[in-house]
Amino acid sequence: MSFSPEFGAGLWHFANYVDRFATDGYGPSLSTLEQIEQAARVRDLKYVDIPFPFTEGVSIEDIKLKLQHCDLKVIGITPEIYTGSYAKGALTNPCKEKRLEAIQHINDAAVAAEQLNASYVKIWAGQDGWDYPFQVDYRQIWQHATEGMKEIAQKNPDIRFAIEYKPREPRVKLNWNSAARTLLVIEETGCDNIGILLDFGHSLFAGESPADSAQLILDRGRLFGIDVNDNFRGWDDDLVVGSINTIELFEFFYVLHKNEWKGVWQLDQFPFRENHVEAAEMSIDYLKFIHKSINRLNINELEKAQASQDPLLAQKVIREALFSYN
Ligand code: FE
Ligand code: FE
Repeated sequence: MSFSPEFGAGLWHFANYVDRFATDGYGPSLSTLEQIEQAARVRDLKYVDIPFPFTEGVSIEDIKLKLQHCDLKVIGITPEIYTGSYAKGALTNPCKEKRLEAIQHINDAAVAAEQLNASYVKIWAGQDGWDYPFQVDYRQIWQHATEGMKEIAQKNPDIRFAIEYKPREPRVKLNWNSAARTLLVIEETGCDNIGILLDFGHSLFAGESPADSAQLILDRGRLFGIDVNDNFRGWDDDLVVGSINTIELFEFFYVLHKNEWKGVWQLDQFPFRENHVEAAEMSIDYLKFIHKSINRLNINELEKAQASQDPLLAQKVIREALFSYN
């Protein structure tokens, strides 16, 4: 197999984090330009996903120059429609002005994406959902979200929009919480330029088999991007790739390989207490190992196992590939 994957990371991997207890943060605040410099220190990292707007005082021109200097490219632009100012939702906010503000913000992000030659604008609608029973009219939430996405996609026909679903956080329940619901909203918009960013960890957290979700999305031509990380399935822990769910990670990449998917293998991690650069390199090294293991996979035997739904033979084949174990 001649394909060799390229690696990317969300710039937040290199930012400072706060949580609801450590409101003083876990490290110094860095500007968008400083975060790009940190990303450039990661061996074999070629792409970044940049939150929009950039930190104060940073222009598109500054970003272009810094990327050029650091030899990095932009995979995605992520409009910040998940901050406190959208506490009751962005596209689904009960206030019409707020919904229009969100649409305008995403349109502005699309302009930045075009100028930075990004593959997509990522839509992560972390405030669009509900927290309590009876809080929202579900049909209305769904319609606002769907109509908002349709309006944005139609206004920017040359830009691709990748919806990243997740079951919860920060809202207790999120509107786009699974592969199936996200495919449904895309189908209802009828827009070719809306797809999915499949985050391996969100899929685990949603109780899915990420490989199954990948196949479902690929078969509908909607896989615009992926994020990788790991978690214990009870939360979006965003841990180092491969630290917990190795077998399912391997299955996920096997399905991508089988479908000849050639996108960027992108990290979405939050190394709160770790060295950010080391955490990224450790994940990239592991992803390279997964890639080599796919080359070692006895695909004929695996297909034989799947044809008869023989889980023991399948496990034997994958253990051989991953651990040289038999
Ligand atoms: Fe993600
Ligand atoms: Fe996440």
